[in-house]
Amino acid sequence: MIFFDIDTQHDFMDADGALAVPDADAIKPNLERLLVAAGKHKLLTISSRCAHEPGDAEFEIFPPHCLEGTRGAERIFDALPHLPRHEFEADAQADEHARLNAGHHYVVKKKAYDLFTNAWLEALRTRGAFAHQECVIFGVATDYCVRAAALGLAQAGARVLLVEDAIRGVAPDTTEKSLAEFRAAGVEFTKTETVLNQWSVAGK
Ligand SMILES: [Zn+2]
Repeated sequence: MIFFDIDTQHDFMDADGALAVPDADAIKPNLERLLVAAGKHKLLTISSRCAHEPGDAEFEIFPPHCLEGTRGAERIFDALPHLPRHEFEADAQADEHARLNAGHHYVVKKKAYDLFTNAWLEALRTRGAFAHQECVIFGVATDYCVRAAALGLAQAGARVLLVEDAIRGVAPDTTEKSLAEFRAAGVEFTKTETVLNQWSVAGK
């Protein structure tokens, strides 16, 4: 199982953030529980995060947000999960020898909402690193970054599980449209409690 922690950064998650996702505050406790569990159970975790510079192309579509070096760009639970961490810059190159290690945390920076615009991560995806893997996705926003992660992983042959009480969308209409696309792509829905319960059921 792989956790995908999508863009859980101050500018998206906080009510006064530069590109605040409505009601994102409500999912913070679940995000924290999931990330704590990832550390405790040594789960491979991939965190995507916007890392922008002034003048980035994305600012023609969205207001400026997550400027590298500002608090808005930092992950809200930056200390989590408690796992060995590897950071990849937005312009990290594809690496045919790259591999993902169980029990490690990969922070993947990006300059567009789709996390697979990071060439290093995209190379892993196209090479089949996520095929037949259970990919559990949470974070923001359902209709943009989460959507790109879910559909990109489904297309790569992953079993995609979306944690419905640990995601939030920007707008109701695009969120509804995305949910329909997820269903069509075979994406499944789960809840934080269900994800966390698997370990107690397994007695681990
Ligand atoms: Zn961005």
